[in-house]
Amino acid sequence: MDSPSLIRKTAADLRVPPNWQDFGGERRAFSWDAARAGMAGLAGGGINIAYEAVERQARTLAGKTAFRFLSRSGPARDIGYGELARLTARFANVLRGLGVGKGDRLFVLAGRIPELYVAVLGSLRNGTVVSPLFSAFGPEPIATRVNLGAGRVLVTTDALYARKVAQWRDRMPTLEHVLLVAEEGGGTAVPGTLDLAALMAVAGDECPVTPTAAEDMALLHFTSGTTGTPKGAVHVHGAVVTHQATGRYALDLHGDDTFWCTADPGWVTGTSYGIIAPLLHGVTSIIDREEFDAERWYGILQEQAVTVWYTAPTAIRMLMKAGADIPRRYRFPQLRFIASVGEPLNPEAVRWGKEVLGLPIHDNWWQTETGGIMIANTPAFDIKPGSMGRPLPGIEAAIVKRQENGTVTVVDEPDVEGELALKAGWPSMFRGYLNAEERYRKCFAGDWYLTGDLARRDADGYYWFVGRADDVIKSAGHLIGPFEVESALMEHPAVAEAGVIGKPDPVVGEVVKAFVSLKAGFAADEALRMELLGHARKRLGAAVAPKEIAFLPALPRTRSGKIMRRLLKARELGLPEGDVSTLEAGA
Ligand code: AMP
Repeated sequence: MDSPSLIRKTAADLRVPPNWQDFGGERRAFSWDAARAGMAGLAGGGINIAYEAVERQARTLAGKTAFRFLSRSGPARDIGYGELARLTARFANVLRGLGVGKGDRLFVLAGRIPELYVAVLGSLRNGTVVSPLFSAFGPEPIATRVNLGAGRVLVTTDALYARKVAQWRDRMPTLEHVLLVAEEGGGTAVPGTLDLAALMAVAGDECPVTPTAAEDMALLHFTSGTTGTPKGAVHVHGAVVTHQATGRYALDLHGDDTFWCTADPGWVTGTSYGIIAPLLHGVTSIIDREEFDAERWYGILQEQAVTVWYTAPTAIRMLMKAGADIPRRYRFPQLRFIASVGEPLNPEAVRWGKEVLGLPIHDNWWQTETGGIMIANTPAFDIKPGSMGRPLPGIEAAIVKRQENGTVTVVDEPDVEGELALKAGWPSMFRGYLNAEERYRKCFAGDWYLTGDLARRDADGYYWFVGRADDVIKSAGHLIGPFEVESALMEHPAVAEAGVIGKPDPVVGEVVKAFVSLKAGFAADEALRMELLGHARKRLGAAVAPKEIAFLPALPRTRSGKIMRRLLKARELGLPEGDVSTLEAGA
């Protein structure tokens, strides 16, 4: 199918020779074993993400900038590969001094400050399992995740500790050490915490990498499902082979690139591609501490001479909304490759890239569970705007239909909607949901990992996103579990029941909307609505809390008592209600 809107790759799009151009040939020639053999590896046959990303690179790139941190409050701070190796060694020594070692769990709750990056890589170096948390989470999501992950150590800032952790500390019984970064002048002399800078100052620069095997747990990324608590997706050190391969194929990273991944490490993109992949390719990464601002972002692309940019549809739509006048004041001659992930990228956005930035935007698809990019638009083929692209080398994808007996059938014909599935076995595939073996098992049918996304594949092998098979919400690229939001609302004394949906939004994809019915004696008025919005925001944090709350006398439930979010959504959007045969009478 040669769609009229096809964006052909021209010489102008490829300002330097790309890493690959022969899609079919590269896919045929590729093997994960060969990719694994191309990594340095540890003496004795192990593999360690921090060794590959930092220690090995520091031998040849010691003086080169690994990360350049930008913020409004001061000059840029550059950390070179050599300095990063020393800092991560120091951090590992700090952990060793506290008796924290291989397999122990460490959480990081911080904005995009250097200490976050040092803590993540230092933990990996020490064999300590690390879980970065989004700093816009409220106290409840933080405590839930630390408890699920049995966190022994938390690295955070004075300000975040005071606001989000201190009063909940006694609800996190596994947490033994809190290492504080003095960020906002609050100081670190806080009872029950340790001053990270003081510990780092006396730690040694030498610290051998803890020998880890490919299957040893490295990272824990929490993701949301429709029901129950968040799921802790377990990732292993061997995942680094996928980080390396996808940095090459999907982001086209070259050693002399200046790369900007705008994702926060609290989400998997910000770790796999905001920390690990660029280091593996020896590039310089830009890290901006500030939140989105159109003028600032164009300024960064220009001033930092960014060559490869990995961002998200919400950000692109916000740039589009900010208008064409701002980018006219900037020049981006170095920019040569743009990619985007996390939510559907509208075809207009792909074309906007070409018009305004001079380059099309390459959408790609993956999820927390896959650990790395699976399906992508790449330099190796033309773009069909609106498509997520094609499976990368080493990845076998299919559209499948679930059968009642738990198996799946693969749909061979093109243009049929079904569930997107991936053949299990790529190195960065999650190895479990922490303490939830049954939930993990349910994600597989035979060799196929079932992604929970609905999609179709066209005759040229391009995949098109259709929607989620479940009720999870994607807001500004962040996956939000309705259950977590409903539970927080239910904790308010006025709330009898709560049902939460994603309401389509032209900029952020979906906004979180809650429907609430009240207990007897409470009036459904504006004051209570504001109180509930405030209550949810305080508990959950701005990233997760509902933006809208509507009162209903009762929520539609199935006869077995489950809130029918699907129906709430259909009614909200004025769509047909579909099959309501299981609806409780009167709802
Ligand atoms: P997360 O695990 O938070 O990274 O979210 C993964 C989910 O985001 C996927 O299962 C999809 O539903 C959605 N997603 C990721 N990338 C894309 C994309 N390029 N197009 C459409 N949806 C996407």
